[in-house]
Amino acid sequence: MQETVIHFSDLALNSAILSALTEMGFEKPTPIQAASIPVLIEGRDALGKAQTGTGKTAAFSLPLLNKLDLSQRKPQAIVMAPTRELAIQVAAEVKNLGQNVKGLKVLEIYGGASIVDQMRALKSGAHIVVGTPGRVKDLITRERLHLDECHTFVLDEADEMLKMGFVDDVTWIMEQAPETAQRVLFSATMPPMVKNIVDRYLREPARIDVAGSNQTVEKVEQQFWVVKGVEKDEAMSRLLETEETDAAIVFVRTRQDTERLADWLSARGFKAAALHGDIPQSLRERTVDHIKKGVIDILVATDVVARGLDVPRITHVFNYDIPFDVESYIHRIGRTGRAGRKGKAILLVRTNQIRMLRTIERVTRSSMEEIQLPHRDKVAESRLSQLASDLDSEKEHKALDKFAELVEKLQTSLDIDATTLAAMLLKRQQGKRPLFYVGEDPMLEAIERDKQRRRERRENRDNGGRDFGRNSNVDWETYQLQVGREQGVQVKDIVGALANELGLTKGSIGAIKLAQGHTFVQLPKSMSESVTKKLRKLRIRQKEVDAVVCDFTDFRENRGGGRREGGRRFDGNRNGGGRGNGNSRGGERRFDRNRGGDHRGNHRGERGHSQRRQHQDA
Ligand code: ADP
Ligand code: MG
Repeated sequence: MQETVIHFSDLALNSAILSALTEMGFEKPTPIQAASIPVLIEGRDALGKAQTGTGKTAAFSLPLLNKLDLSQRKPQAIVMAPTRELAIQVAAEVKNLGQNVKGLKVLEIYGGASIVDQMRALKSGAHIVVGTPGRVKDLITRERLHLDECHTFVLDEADEMLKMGFVDDVTWIMEQAPETAQRVLFSATMPPMVKNIVDRYLREPARIDVAGSNQTVEKVEQQFWVVKGVEKDEAMSRLLETEETDAAIVFVRTRQDTERLADWLSARGFKAAALHGDIPQSLRERTVDHIKKGVIDILVATDVVARGLDVPRITHVFNYDIPFDVESYIHRIGRTGRAGRKGKAILLVRTNQIRMLRTIERVTRSSMEEIQLPHRDKVAESRLSQLASDLDSEKEHKALDKFAELVEKLQTSLDIDATTLAAMLLKRQQGKRPLFYVGEDPMLEAIERDKQRRRERRENRDNGGRDFGRNSNVDWETYQLQVGREQGVQVKDIVGALANELGLTKGSIGAIKLAQGHTFVQLPKSMSESVTKKLRKLRIRQKEVDAVVCDFTDFRENRGGGRREGGRRFDGNRNGGGRGNGNSRGGERRFDRNRGGDHRGNHRGERGHSQRRQHQDA
């Protein structure tokens, strides 16, 4: 579909509608509107396909508003939507578009709300009904809703509706309307199920497809952050504090996660709420209303409930969990960049999910930019400047005199000076958002570790991939740890502790020799102050290791002596024992990152985790 230059006034719409469009600030039809309105006005069955956020609602609503007979009391058009939120939203848009149509009645019908009220409303007459399948079917069965004079049947978000197992209800409802009724399906994608329904129920439909230019994806700036150093909750709070957001929606995978994360964010002072399918209807409506009005700023939601949600103030979509498929991704990021605005989408991705990310990029023909999280100190800085600006507005507050008196009282009773008192109050008021941090940001360490790993990999490559040559430039020091076999310690415990607690890379852990009550291990001579400090405090299997430097060098003895740890490799001997590569240091165990091939690299992050847990459980 080409860029359209036509105007709404070219589309044979009546003046009541045209004036509403002007009032709503719709200047010209979107491509899907320009293409489908003329066809729909003709009365043909139609299948419309366009990305989310392209104005499909008005595309099917305008033609049916245009041909209403206001004197008729039975419904003339029915629009089906998959969720209550969407039914409400579509009904609101129809009402808006029909605001100048005198006497127009649009009624939304969905489960979870009083059926009696809906019956009463039907009785007093509705021109257009917007509903979810279950309740609509119910009301038809009870003979409260009559479709015998319905001339238009619309299925919005058809892909989603049919996915949710509404097929039987939907087709049943469709059959309650006269056979001559116009049937219209709108969808962002065309899965086989939708094709099926189209083939069976639509008669020579006009096929309108403007999905070619992916507007959603183009309007939304897309970024990703690879989970590393800090966990996703922490990452979310750093992003939320430093990104310039108005409102945001955070997508997570499960209902439990929506609740958990919303609570976690609320405890840190964010105005967040969960939205998922198990939340009672009235509360869901209120939550959506709250984000619209700014009572809350963050929705933590699952895919289904947030489908199609149109909240213009959403500036950011955070994909806390990567979606299962590209389609969901497009739907998710379509929650921002609404109605011509700009939006931003940030994806938190684990290293083993990078492939999914690349698939998304390929299918959407867009690229995502990798970002780093703001450092902890930056976050603290922004908290302080936020506090300063909040306080600035209170400088002239008239009750300050009273507080000043209280300050003096407190000073006397605590016997402290004003600065100390202020410091104490400030400490309290920071709550769970510290105004400064001590120690190193775990994320910086993780980044450092990562760099180191890459460096090693590069060197390793330069050495022809043979593992024994790669650490040749490390100057080793041997330490004796006061734990050994007697304490039930195995090589993997030592490695795990050194890697996870000290943050050492595999390349900077040398040979290890396990003995009865102690262990010798080679570590680099040049370790940073902070690593050395951690080594001093290191515990393995609940035992202080009391590492001391010693002059043990003979890591070779017991070679091939049958002890498992003798020549054992951390990665489980994928190379068949690793003896064939010329490694003569049989008594030690060495890492072998190169041998597993690249596919293993993807899992490294995750493995590190389970290993750490294992270690802590021990
Ligand atoms: P879709 O159903 O395709 O996802 P919507 O119908 O929800 O998209 O429309 C997205 C947003 O664009 C809504 O806020 C709607 O009011 C607005 N919109 C629709 N058509 C136009 C138009 N022609 N001009 C400006 N804004 C529009
Ligand atoms: Mg829609």
